[in-house]
Amino acid sequence: MNGTPASWRPRRGLHRVGLSLGRGGRPLRIAYGRLFHEANTFSPLVTTRDAFDNAFALTGDALARATTLRGKELEGFMPHAELTGFAQAARAAGEVETVPLASYLAVPSGPLDRDCFEGLVEDQLARLRAAGPLDGVYLALHGSMEVRGLDEAPEASLLRRVRALVGPDVKIAASFDLHANLSAGLVEPLDVLVGYRTNPHWDLAPTGWRAGNRLIRALRAEIRPTHAWRKLPLVLGGGMTIDFLPPMRGVFGWMRALERDPRVLSASLFMVHPYTNAPDLGWAAHVCTDDDPALAAELADALAERAWAERDRALPKMHTVPEALEEAARTPWRKLGPVTFVDVDDIVGAGAPGGNTRIVEALLGRDDPPRAYVPVHDPALVAHTWDLPLGSEHTLVLRGTPGYDQPEVPLRAIVAARVDGELGRYVRLDVGSVHLAVGESPPLPIHPRFWRDLDLDPRQADIIVQKNFFHYRMFYGAISFRHVPVVTDGATSLRRVRDRAAREDRHPGARLSEWRTHDPALRAAR
Ligand SMILES: [Zn+2]
Repeated sequence: MNGTPASWRPRRGLHRVGLSLGRGGRPLRIAYGRLFHEANTFSPLVTTRDAFDNAFALTGDALARATTLRGKELEGFMPHAELTGFAQAARAAGEVETVPLASYLAVPSGPLDRDCFEGLVEDQLARLRAAGPLDGVYLALHGSMEVRGLDEAPEASLLRRVRALVGPDVKIAASFDLHANLSAGLVEPLDVLVGYRTNPHWDLAPTGWRAGNRLIRALRAEIRPTHAWRKLPLVLGGGMTIDFLPPMRGVFGWMRALERDPRVLSASLFMVHPYTNAPDLGWAAHVCTDDDPALAAELADALAERAWAERDRALPKMHTVPEALEEAARTPWRKLGPVTFVDVDDIVGAGAPGGNTRIVEALLGRDDPPRAYVPVHDPALVAHTWDLPLGSEHTLVLRGTPGYDQPEVPLRAIVAARVDGELGRYVRLDVGSVHLAVGESPPLPIHPRFWRDLDLDPRQADIIVQKNFFHYRMFYGAISFRHVPVVTDGATSLRRVRDRAAREDRHPGARLSEWRTHDPALRAAR
């Protein structure tokens, strides 16, 4: 994502300049920050503070510089995200002083340990205390964080403590990822709540703009945000859930149209990250109107109903590993480039550790395996092989991520290459035509460069295994033309989600005919 989407550039005449001052005739003062993580409860990995003290960590003046149009808020991922959108909304409104707190984001992985979470929250609260008198606070959050040993939604804990610190008169806005799990603790402390409206998500900056714009207008008493929300007993539905493809295209288009009505301040649909342990997991519809509670309730009901109507839309066909291998041998697309296997049960971009060994096991069980490139997280095997001479052959065992309960795969492998790069240390182990990229961190070979760094030409492969749903396609557009979803067993296994949904009375694990009788209890849950 480069450049500034036209849709959130400051528009002339959007704000009335006459009402621009804050309380007591001085500019509005609004603090802003981020605490962002998507947790996967089925991953054996624990997310610790070092995962947040990374290239994305920005505080104080560095955060202020990064959220200008020349800055880079999430370097290497997306230059302009929510906080840049917010800062530009404040700039466009005029007479708003923005006070940077801190921005912390870690890539999706297992739940946070308690110390990590408390440290991050205390850091934000200390910055908030030091910020001086404020009129408003804006926080960019995910909404599917999870913390070991914490009996509360983590974002709810943060918002409760922020509210306690700033008092009832300061207005608080938050934005959430479209995969947030909404709960009372997330909704009730907030004056302004908005969510992403694209999937895959490209609208981070526009979302921050919308949050900032509504917060500033609320502080200037131009609007009175009034919320209504509904919760569905639904953890999987809507097919691929892509906002610009059927079936969800109709629902998202309807939400955008709603916001063209000046009485409607925002409409958001949260389709949840289904891999957390939240006891109240479920899709949610949220609508905010300008001082019209009846309209908010009516539209929240209507949005929930539209989402519920798509609950039985199927996902594309998933293949077992043998089926996928047959498809790779048969497809005419193979003549043009390698076939991509998307390991849907071990998606690192959704918090899986990437240490699934089942595809390797299946490949090595063939008499004449295809030329395959397979990334696997196995830090113990990296440590064991890092100092072995290149070209030497060894008897080894691939075990995958520690604690991930994967089959052990014995190997007779040649140590063919090694690299210490962006993703940490990776060793290439060759077993005949099967090339393993064994890493000490969860593998994200989104860019073909990952293979070239290990002296492998991506075009020469028959099969390349990916650990993310979509993003790699931006870089493999001229390389791979057939993408096969492969079912193995891991932290993003939909079977696990369905099994749990059946226990907890959620669609599609439990076959439910309606949502309304479940909504009150789901909204009341902690
Ligand atoms: Zn998301």
